[in-house]
Amino acid sequence: MRAAVLEKTEKLKIKDVPRPIPQEGEILIQVKSCAICGTDIKVFHYGHQHIRFPRITGHEVSGVIVALGKNVEEYREGERVAVAPAIPCGRCYYCRRGIEAMCDNLTAIGYHYDGGFAQLMKVPRLAVRNGCVNPIPENLSFEQASLAEPLACVINGQELSKIGLGDTVAIIGAGPIGCFHAELARIKGAEKVILAEISSQRLEKAKFTSSNIYINPDQENLQQRVFEETEGRGADKVIVAVGSKKAQEDSLRIVAKCGVVNFFGGLPKDKPTINFDSNLLHYGEFYVVGTHGSAPRHNQLALNILTKGGIDAKNYITEKIPLAEIKKGLKIAEEKKGLKIIVQPNGN
Ligand SMILES: [Zn+2]
Ligand SMILES: [Zn+2]
Repeated sequence: MRAAVLEKTEKLKIKDVPRPIPQEGEILIQVKSCAICGTDIKVFHYGHQHIRFPRITGHEVSGVIVALGKNVEEYREGERVAVAPAIPCGRCYYCRRGIEAMCDNLTAIGYHYDGGFAQLMKVPRLAVRNGCVNPIPENLSFEQASLAEPLACVINGQELSKIGLGDTVAIIGAGPIGCFHAELARIKGAEKVILAEISSQRLEKAKFTSSNIYINPDQENLQQRVFEETEGRGADKVIVAVGSKKAQEDSLRIVAKCGVVNFFGGLPKDKPTINFDSNLLHYGEFYVVGTHGSAPRHNQLALNILTKGGIDAKNYITEKIPLAEIKKGLKIAEEKKGLKIIVQPNGN
């Protein structure tokens, strides 16, 4: 089969590799769609602590089951499925408390196991057993379904941020994740959604989210504007959907008393420190939480939201490319042109 093999950092080769054979409890998927994620760009340049080269990356995967290993009973050949890449062990302290996203033994497709930038992808036994393989509803395309993964992380983030009825939600960053947050906040009952983004082009494109207020912090004072829009209170919930130190620092100044700030975007590992006036927290009594992944149940919820029309994944898909053009795809994604780029390893 053809695959994009990351042989070492910045050395990505499209080549023939042996066809994977599903062992007991495993499933083999013909990959129909694998969306490019911000993480894929980071991994391409810098590698990842859980990746041993050579590795096929790609973790936002949907496809058709083409073979089953022994003792797989809940699935059948020909079934259309989306795969949640993060695999909880099901047995550790956190899994037993129902917090699978925090599993102590978490492994992930595209990191510990080969991922979806290939014609075929094997789903490990533990992933099959622990609910990572979800059937795609009929009216959802493969491309749409592969966006369940990023949306699942957004759903986890908003659960942790307790976004609900009547909230004013400010989101910093209007990439695909920021836009998902804006749309999901509305679905969860937010009254006012404020979207901030320093790229005017991106901000313009994000208008499909029907947010109430769009702010470019490079052109106007973010804090001042958020306070103006909230009768001087600040936003009840603030989500930082970019990996920016300044955005994280800003978020702590625009949150309302007793509100929640979510650091959804991670900072570079060599520069993870921010400056923080701790008295803001002391007097504001707000909460700070982070989010970096999701559990299998969030993936199921994401598929439901994409299916029932709450969020239309079509608005997020700006380009579809064959596997041979994956490097071009990574470059487009890195330049932040458009939102999601879909790789179709088996054509469309
Ligand atoms: Zn992703
Ligand atoms: Zn676990």
